[in-house]
Amino acid sequence: MKNNYCTNCGKKLNEGSMVCPKCGFRVNQVITFQREESTNVLAIVGFCCSLISIVTMGAFAIPALVLSVLGYKEKDKYVNNYSGLAMAGIVISIVTIALIVLYILLSMIVPLLIIIFGIAAAA
Ligand SMILES: [Zn+2]
Repeated sequence: MKNNYCTNCGKKLNEGSMVCPKCGFRVNQVITFQREESTNVLAIVGFCCSLISIVTMGAFAIPALVLSVLGYKEKDKYVNNYSGLAMAGIVISIVTIALIVLYILLSMIVPLLIIIFGIAAAA
């Protein structure tokens, strides 16, 4: 670990200390430590939801998209940012939603076409 100096008064800090021994200022080492420990849970949960949305034919697709987008946006806050996982979650959930929309459209259009052609054939 490199030597740190108090950002408030400039005194050299002891290794691993979070508070300046001279002025009592909370050193940003605390933030660094949290960054090292932090894991982008949103990205992981979003990716899992997107996988569930495939298996369940679309349930969780929208929460998966929202969580993955949030996870991707927040990725810089984390050391274990799982940005690839977040991106995969975004892609999977968008594809799933697109397939659902396509399925709904087809299920509306096909009967409509059958009715139209039925009327045309009868006429
Ligand atoms: Zn200080």
